[in-house]
Parts: sequence; structure tokens; C-alpha cells
Amino acid sequence: MTPAMLNLSKKHQQERDRVINRRPSKEHAEEAVRTLLAYSGDDSEREGLKDTPSRVIRSFDEFYSGYLKDPVEILERTFEETNGYDEMVLLKNIMFVSHCEHHMAPIIGKAHVAYLPRGRVVGISKLARVVEVYARRLQIQEKMTAQIANAINGVLEPGGVAVIIEAEHHCMTTRGVNKPGVSMTTSKMLGAFRDDPRTRSEFLANVGMS
Ligand SMILES: [Zn+2]
Repeated sequence: MTPAMLNLSKKHQQERDRVINRRPSKEHAEEAVRTLLAYSGDDSEREGLKDTPSRVIRSFDEFYSGYLKDPVEILERTFEETNGYDEMVLLKNIMFVSHCEHHMAPIIGKAHVAYLPRGRVVGISKLARVVEVYARRLQIQEKMTAQIANAINGVLEPGGVAVIIEAEHHCMTTRGVNKPGVSMTTSKMLGAFRDDPRTRSEFLANVGMS
């Protein structure tokens, strides 16, 4: 690991410790769900809702599992035998489910992630796992896009990173302004994807956005 990677990793470890320390107990969390059930107007004691609090908390363990995962750990195993391959590596249509930090409503979409290797490549499934780490948190799409790009950039130190996310925000499609079918696109370009119009165009053409 390079000193920069060690630093990043240490930061993520500290974050993880903070998450574990400030977390309330499962019992407290289930009690909070019972309160919300009652607030919705239903009878939280009735048979059909008896196990709902524990199910909701188990869903939370999935939806928000990203807080306990370290993207550096995921990306640090790289391969150097690339036979000099230095062209774009692109993973398209990485489906994800996240939740917006304003309403805790689902954000459902896909990410396209590309980088230009400089001597090292990473197993392709690792790019999808990094998307997952940040999706499984409370998010705003802009932040998530930047976090994915910065994590890959920080660990792989490639010639460039590009991330595009297209997603539907359920806080907008199922409530509020109620506009089903509306999606939002965000992008973060670093290195050559930012500075070299040809690299950027190649990426955009590959993901069908030019
Ligand atoms: Zn929202």
C-alpha cells in the first residue's frame, strides 16, 4: 500500500469506528419503528405488524451496510500484469439502490464507471462493489458520484476516472411533485476525462450519451 492509500484506509477505519460507537441498539431501533407505525395511523400491536419492526431493521442492515465497508480494502488488490494495457476500462449499467438523505426514499438507478489504468488494473467486479459501498448509505446523487470517482482515483492513481449516474428519486416520483419516469443524471470526470476532449467523447459515446 502507498502512503496515500494507508492514509485513506485509516480515515475509513476511523469512520467505521464512529459508526459503530454512535449506533443505538436493535431494540431501540425497533421501538422507533413501532412509533412510526403508530404515527402512520395503524395499530402497531396487531398481528400482521408484530414482526414488522424487526424486518424493517433487518432491511436497514442491508440498505445502510455501506457505512461499515471500506472502499480502499475493496480496491487495494490490483494486478500489474497488464501487458501495457493503458486504454479505457469501462463498466456500464451497474444497477444500484440507494436512499436519499432528505426523505430516506429509494434512489434507483445505474452507474457507469471508467478509468484509464496506469500500470495497475483492478478486478472488474471491484468497481461494482465500490458503487455498492456508497449506494448503501444515505445519499444525495451528486455526492455519491463524486465519492465513487474520488475513491477510485485515490487508490488506483489512474490516468483518469469518469463516473456517470442516472437515477430515479422516489421522493420525487412517488410523492411531492409526483413525477413518475423523471430521472437525474450526474457526472464526475477526473484526469484525462476532464482535460482531454477525445477521452471524454470516447467515454460518452461508449455509454450512449454523446
Ligand atoms: Zn429525497
